[in-house]
Parts: sequence; structure tokens; C-alpha cells
Amino acid sequence: MAQPSPAAKADRVPGRQPGRQPRRLPRETRAVVRSSNAGLDIGPAALLAPGREKSLRLRHPWVFSGAIERVEGNPASGDTVTVVAADGTFAAHAAYSPTSQIRARVWSFDPQATIDAAFFMRTVARAAAARAPLFDTAHTAGRILHGESDGLPGVVADRYGDVVVMQCTSAGAERWRDTLAAALTEATGAQCVYERSDAEVRVLEGLPVRSGVIKGSLPDVVAIVEDGIAYRVDVVHGQKTGFYLDQRDNRNVVRRNARDRRVLNAFCYTGGFSLAALAGGATSVVSVDSSADALAMARDNLARNASLDATRAQWVEADVFAQFRSMRDAGATFDMIVLDPPKFAPTAAHAERAARAYKDINLLAFKLLTAGGLLATFSCSGGISAELFQKIVAGAALDADADAQVIAHLTAGADHPVALNFPEGDYLKGLLIRKA
Ligand code: SAH
Repeated sequence: MAQPSPAAKADRVPGRQPGRQPRRLPRETRAVVRSSNAGLDIGPAALLAPGREKSLRLRHPWVFSGAIERVEGNPASGDTVTVVAADGTFAAHAAYSPTSQIRARVWSFDPQATIDAAFFMRTVARAAAARAPLFDTAHTAGRILHGESDGLPGVVADRYGDVVVMQCTSAGAERWRDTLAAALTEATGAQCVYERSDAEVRVLEGLPVRSGVIKGSLPDVVAIVEDGIAYRVDVVHGQKTGFYLDQRDNRNVVRRNARDRRVLNAFCYTGGFSLAALAGGATSVVSVDSSADALAMARDNLARNASLDATRAQWVEADVFAQFRSMRDAGATFDMIVLDPPKFAPTAAHAERAARAYKDINLLAFKLLTAGGLLATFSCSGGISAELFQKIVAGAALDADADAQVIAHLTAGADHPVALNFPEGDYLKGLLIRKA
């Protein structure tokens, strides 16, 4: 006998709160969806194969192509479709992505919701209001929209003072781009919305890469203050939207632990952790990155902060893997090392190669660390879980013959929330480790 669907089971569970039950569409609507008859119009629809509504009932916002049995109503890229379970019950309102493996991304699980400009104005306003306490004169930068975790799959927006940089990476986000830009202006009062929709994932969505001003005009210099430290942000050419905002709290952890330490900051980009270490009283900071442009900005950032002693900083343009080996061979040592490499494993398919790369640099870092030295080590790879990352680092310590303790688990700041129904949002993991 066929298993009853979760929705049917839910209907029979005594004592369930009515509001908690998956809501059924009116009978006529179900009939329309099933038979494609004209009649009650629910617009374009994606009909799921039996059992494939399960993840949506858990409020996970992605519908993979394999879960969809049939699409009706000929939706265009980015159009809103009603996602309907095989038993005819409503599952979600979602944006349709005809070329992506993630064929639909959910805007709302509320059958009554209307996906219109007002919906996006409300959602953006709510996200911005939640971040308001994170901004003041000493903190002028932060993430305003964090994709799925803010109910807006494929939409990221970062605030840098008066400039908001928006990135749309899904067909649905693309469809509502102008509305989102207007909503961001209204919610933040920013003078400029700049678009950096140039992430590679756009190609998977069948979208062209695009960047440029959407609203207002971009100042010649975009400058921010983070924890009282000034930085310039290159929103036009910089990595991501220009700055690694997700490391804000962790730069502060490094700052609080840097006093009187000789610090090595690997993968320094525009100097975030380097300046934080100097502000925290590091005696010296050696920073390594392979990008000459990033290093030039890092030097410039240091020069912007008169209170920091630039003579304590050394900038090295090199490949970290090679540089660590030559430092080890030269017998160099440090009292604190920061390892914040780029995403070695964007997806689980890259995990094995990435694991070797993480192990390599962490092993070398343990060798370069003095006894009592601190290692702040990170992975921003979606394909590497926190548990696996800790195992890799433990293996590195073992092979380096180092005893070590984890003294803190680190993650992205409060402006990068992780929705409980979207564990994939938990991409940044870090460990603060003390070598015995
Ligand atoms: N910690 C930085 C962000 C690091 S982003 C911050 O807080 O702002 C990763 C950096 O690694 C980039 O700047 C990139 O240029 C650099 N990078 C990537 N591969 C590298 C390699 N093999 N050697 C050195 N730097 C590398």
C-alpha cells in the first residue's frame, strides 16, 4: 500500500495546531492544477513528484529539477510559480529557474502570500531593521541581505557606509532586481546601490554577468569603519562585493589576542586581520597574499589609520603554500597565525582535494607556531562541514607533532544569520587553537 503523504498524516494527528498543518488549496484549485483545466487561476505551477515535498515541508527553500514532475503555465525565467505537492496541497510560492538544477527557489511558504513589490519591500525592510543595532559611527559596514537566510534566495546586499552593493545570483532575484534596489534604498537611506552580479554561478542560472550603478552615483572612494579601523573598499573590482564582511567578529577575536605577538596573516586580501592585529598590539605582522592589487589596498588601508604603526607591518606578494615552505626551511617562527584561504571546495565534489590543501597549510602553520602560539584557521567552503574541518586540522596537528587545544569555535557575524531551515547557510567555520 502506498504510504500516506506527510500532509495526509498531518491531517490525522490529533491535537495538531491548525496553523501548523500544511494548508490545502481549495478543492477546485487542486483540480485545476491536476488537470490543467482553465478555471480557478493559480498562475504557473510546478507539480512535484510523489514524496518530493518533504524538504519543503521542513521549509528548505530549494526545489531540485528531479523533484518536479510537471511544469504548467509556461513560466519564464524568474517568474513566480506555485509549487504543488503530488497530493494537490500547496507547498510554496517560488521563483522559477529553467536552466538551473535548483529549478525553483522559495519566496514564501504562506499560501496567502502575494509575491509582488510590496512583498520585497517588507522583506528587505525587516532584514535591514534586524541589522540596525550593528551599525554606528565605529561600524559603518555590514551585510543587509543574506540570501536564503533572509528569505531572499540568490540576493546578497552589503552596506559600505552610504553605498549598498547588491548581488543577484538567481533568476528570481534577477526578475525583481529593480524592486530590490528600490527597497534597499528605502530601508537603508543609502545614496548609491551598485550591482555586482558577476558571480560565476549566474552562468548556471542562464544569466549574463553584469555590474554597475543601479541607483544614485558611486563616490570615487568608498570608505568604511570597522571596529574603529578605516578601510577603503573597491566595490567595482574587489573580491565578492569588495570586502570580507563575514570575518568582522573574527578580526576582533584576533585583535583581542594579538598583544605582544609576532603575527603571520596568510591570505590577507586588503589587510583586514593585519590591521586588527596591529590595533590589538601585535609587535609585528607579516601578511601574505598572491594578489598585488589586494596588497596595494592593504598598504593604503594601513596608511589611513594614523594610530597604527606601519613600521610593524610587512607585506609579501607570494603563494602561501610556497611561502610557508620557505619560511619553515628558513626556521621562521610566529606567535600567532591567521589562515583565511579562499573557498577551496565550493561544493562537496571538491572536498577531497580541498581537504589536502587545508591540511597542508594547517600542518605548515603548526610547524611555524611557537609553543603557546595561537592559530586562527578558517574554511569558507560549503563542501567542507565544521566537523570535517576540525578533523582535517586535528590531522594536521598530529602530523606536525603538535599538541593543541581548540579555545573557540568561530563563525560569521550576526549580519550573516543562518536560517534554521537552511543549514547550507553555515558556510564559514573557524577554530581558534592554542599550541601547547
Ligand atoms: N582574510 C581576508 C580575506 C581573504 S580572501 C580578509 O579578512 O579580508 C582570500 C585571499 O586569498 C584573496 O585575497 C586571494 O587573493 C588570496 N589567495 C588565493 N590563493 C592564494 C594563494 N595560493 N596564495 C596566496 N594568496 C592567495
